[in-house]
Amino acid sequence: MKKGGMGSQVSYNVQTAVDTRHKLIVAHDVTNAAVDRNQLFPLAGLAQHTLQQDEIKVLADRGYYKGEAIKDCYDAGIEVLVPKTLTSNSRAAGRFDKEVFHYEEETDSYRCPAGETLQRRFTTLEKGKVMQVYFSAVSVCRNCSIKSQCTTSIQRKIRRWEHEDLLDSMEQELRKTPDAMSVRSQTVEHPFGTLKAWMGSTHFLTRRLKNVRTEMSLHVLAYNLRRMMSIMGVVPLMEAIRA
Ligand code: SF4
Repeated sequence: MKKGGMGSQVSYNVQTAVDTRHKLIVAHDVTNAAVDRNQLFPLAGLAQHTLQQDEIKVLADRGYYKGEAIKDCYDAGIEVLVPKTLTSNSRAAGRFDKEVFHYEEETDSYRCPAGETLQRRFTTLEKGKVMQVYFSAVSVCRNCSIKSQCTTSIQRKIRRWEHEDLLDSMEQELRKTPDAMSVRSQTVEHPFGTLKAWMGSTHFLTRRLKNVRTEMSLHVLAYNLRRMMSIMGVVPLMEAIRA
């Protein structure tokens, strides 16, 4: 999956899903959304519908990382691989990111960088998500020699989403397929670059989202037809269309 901003006066967010084998655009959309996270499931679902497959695999860049959307995809039979976003308040402040706390499934606890155990203490609801909260005793953090790298509070608390095991599994799968993101990038860059070259510096000729969507659909149709001609040849393609 790929997004790109286009448009001279209004910025339009163009999303495309491209199949890795034939480099055909199997789904696309144009929105005014400033971020991509909420587009993962709608676009992946559209690609699944177009391909008429119960199960598909989707590679997306980290801009699409959102736990709820990833879960929606898996629930629908869409295996997604999306790298985690690398932003967090702790990381920005130069302190330990949650990533350096190791979750231990057998004991349902976290191991912190100082080797201490953070036990599960209570459950809370945050922005509609059920979160488990883990921490160790105040005295443990107070006496920790690396506390200044960890927290400015009296103790460090780690929050875990109730479906975070799904995100952990996806992370492990990504580690097993280190070329996933280069495959994604090689797959989507060609169609996106081709469309941008066709459209020129002015990008969309039309105005308003409804019209821009139509214009984009025509570009995608032209791209896919040209691609099919080069894959199948003009005559077999014409015969296939007639059939
Ligand atoms: S401050 Fe607490 S959680 Fe953080 S490293 Fe030290 S003991 Fe672990």
